[in-house]
Amino acid sequence: QAKSKGKNNFQFYRSNHSNHIFERLEIEADLRKAIGQQEFELYYQPKINLQSGRISGTEALIRWKHAEKGMISPAEFIPLAEETGLIIPIGEWVLRQACIQNKKWQDDGLDPMVVSVNLSVRQLYQPNLVDMVQDILRETDLDPYYLELEITESMIMDTERGLKVLHELKDLGVQISLDDFGTGYSSLHYLKDFPINKLKIDQSFVRNSTEDKNDEAIIKTIIVMAHQLDFEVIAEGVETVEHLGLLQRNLCNEAQGYLFSKPLPPKDFITNFDRMKQI
Ligand code: C2E
Ligand code: CA
Ligand code: CA
Ligand code: CA
Repeated sequence: QAKSKGKNNFQFYRSNHSNHIFERLEIEADLRKAIGQQEFELYYQPKINLQSGRISGTEALIRWKHAEKGMISPAEFIPLAEETGLIIPIGEWVLRQACIQNKKWQDDGLDPMVVSVNLSVRQLYQPNLVDMVQDILRETDLDPYYLELEITESMIMDTERGLKVLHELKDLGVQISLDDFGTGYSSLHYLKDFPINKLKIDQSFVRNSTEDKNDEAIIKTIIVMAHQLDFEVIAEGVETVEHLGLLQRNLCNEAQGYLFSKPLPPKDFITNFDRMKQI
């Protein structure tokens, strides 16, 4: 009896498991078609320069409007896109779209902003990344200064190759920022040697920074260290005026978060632009 129970359990497990695989395959097949079917959109979240109080930049964040399933979060499909390699065409679409949009905003007469785009590890190591970025900048006629690439610490760990690609990107004139700073594995050694302009303090430190003395200490330390090393610092996940106050007192350069605005589609971003300028 124990045996048959065991067997049933196994079959139960297996059928759940294959449902899961089936759903995954389905999403993967849909992901493959999503570019052609124009189901992706970029939303934009402002970055505020804390000295001037003005918008200095904007982060492009991808959204997938699935025909049947509705909005699917990037936290869900980006990992799948990375595993399957689909991140390569998707990433190229994101870069081109963000550059087109930023150029358009400039042509429309807005104060120039830096648009930042998240790069995945597969993209950093794709053979033609540097040429692709250069082609897109040329094609869209965007000044490279106004493009920033956000990479994470784990992407650049101990690889000569990563270092070389980053130098080539920097030579194009684009900016590079280290996202989710403090959550990865980078040692101070990498900070010293890598061609990075900016550190982005991870939102997990910001979240409790006004209640948790340790998080506050980490934020203060990152800001001081970054400035000593000649990096700019931005904090993400800024949700309250208390968060903002802490960052301002400690001379953080920029802030980004729901306190200012959630990520918005381009037309709404513009509507908010004049209001945002006053903050
Ligand atoms: P990330 O690069 O760390 O982006 C920050 C995430 O925090 C975004 O989630 C943003 O909407 C959210 N956020 C912004 N302000 C606040 C706040 O005040 N509070 C809280 N709790 N959250 C805030 P989103 O858009 O869902 O993106 C999740 C992740 O997906 C991103 O994390 C990034 O790793 C990845 N991702 C998004 N778009 C792209 C893309 O185009 N390419 C690649 N490779 N990855 C992307
Ligand atoms: Ca980011
Ligand atoms: Ca981040
Ligand atoms: Ca993150």
